[in-house]
Amino acid sequence: MTHIDLSVHEVQENLNPFAISQAQLDEAAEVLGLDPDMHAFLRQPMRELHFTIPVRMDNGRTKTFPAFRVQYNDARGPAKGGLRFHPDETIDTVRALAAWMTWKTAVADIPLGGGKGGVICNPRQMSQGELERVSRGYMRGIAHFVSIHRDVPAPDVNTNPKIMAWMLDEYERIHGRHEPGVITGKPPELGGSAGRGPATALGSIVAIREATHALGLHTHGSTCAIQGYGNVGSAAHKLGSEILGLEVVAISDEFGALYNEKGLDYEQVSAYVRRHGRLEGFPEAEDISNSELLELDVDVLTPAAIENQITRRNAHKIKAKIVAELANGPTTPEANDILVENGTFIIPDFLCNAGGVIVSYFEMVQNSSNFYWNESEVNRQLDQKMTRAFLAVHQMAEEAGVDHRVAAYLVAVNRVAQAVRLRGWV
Ligand code: NAD
Repeated sequence: MTHIDLSVHEVQENLNPFAISQAQLDEAAEVLGLDPDMHAFLRQPMRELHFTIPVRMDNGRTKTFPAFRVQYNDARGPAKGGLRFHPDETIDTVRALAAWMTWKTAVADIPLGGGKGGVICNPRQMSQGELERVSRGYMRGIAHFVSIHRDVPAPDVNTNPKIMAWMLDEYERIHGRHEPGVITGKPPELGGSAGRGPATALGSIVAIREATHALGLHTHGSTCAIQGYGNVGSAAHKLGSEILGLEVVAISDEFGALYNEKGLDYEQVSAYVRRHGRLEGFPEAEDISNSELLELDVDVLTPAAIENQITRRNAHKIKAKIVAELANGPTTPEANDILVENGTFIIPDFLCNAGGVIVSYFEMVQNSSNFYWNESEVNRQLDQKMTRAFLAVHQMAEEAGVDHRVAAYLVAVNRVAQAVRLRGWV
């Protein structure tokens, strides 16, 4: 008798980020009754650049790195979006991230479109010299594809202000003039904005504050678990405790997670991470796994690491009242439906993590006027924009009777489609 292993034949959940971004748009298009021609146009990126970067390595050999820049949609203004250096980077991840940037700039109501870039490389295995040559090579590849009027890159996973400085310098050498607004997330000495570093986390703190108000919860003493302890996850720990009085009971990085029911002190943890380079071994906590962290009974769960962390396999075990998506694409569509059914309040990624691009936009404004604001002015304007964006989405969710992710899409897609229509493209 033949035994059939049913698990092999189980339909796999599609984890391709671009397919996920298209499925999310499809759902919103159906609720909106979007014109089919407009829908077809918005499902695809408008432009893509695929190129290679030959880099002289320290050992004298030349290594060739594949690279991409995607301009998903620029109907509302120049494309805007970060650049990732990652060994597992794929064109579909870059396409999805560029689509999410399009919806993010629209939901934040800033006059920009959406783009994204990526280089398939492993910065952990490169010297500083090799990293600089890859960064300058990337800018040489895109120098005639981007400009302050067309497309403005910024940092993302594994890229930082130092890399932005090399890229700005390369662009200005090629074009023979100063043009600081062509890239954001720069060091302040080269035209970077005050407050850009913690902006993404600060924006999410505003969104969490508004969500707790909407749910009638108190932020002070509410418990929080944060997955991922990089730029945004660690800043969310600091600002969540300082500004909202959240009790951060669990944090993690790619090597594992820490739990302390009495709360983890930001200063102690960050001093430990500076010394050891990772969270593992921090003495004031119990070691747990990343999947246990996601399933903790906390008020706020903040995925701040990578895509596809909440899937149909674990969504039914999530107990948090609020899932504040600091990472891009941490929840699959099937998992989203399970969370919504269980009454979880989701602050969707392109709303929750819009603070970074909002302050990048402020950076472009300051660069073009050559006049710089102080950090409290930046934070005040950021709070205002994030609060407006959150309330527009929340109001849409109530009026249309949909969950917050669909509501965010309705707000964003309406705005982008309107700009496309006014330009007469569709
Ligand atoms: P980062 O590289 O600084 O940090 C990523 C963190 O996630 C690290 O602590 C890493 O150890 C951890 N991590 C990686 N894989 C993990 C896993 N499987 N389980 C648990 N932890 C894991 O990156 P970042 O800039 O903090 O970005 C994190 C997320 O936020 C990404 O999805 C990024 O696209 C998104 N985001 C960042 C910004 C920004 O301004 N930096 C803006 C918008 C969105």
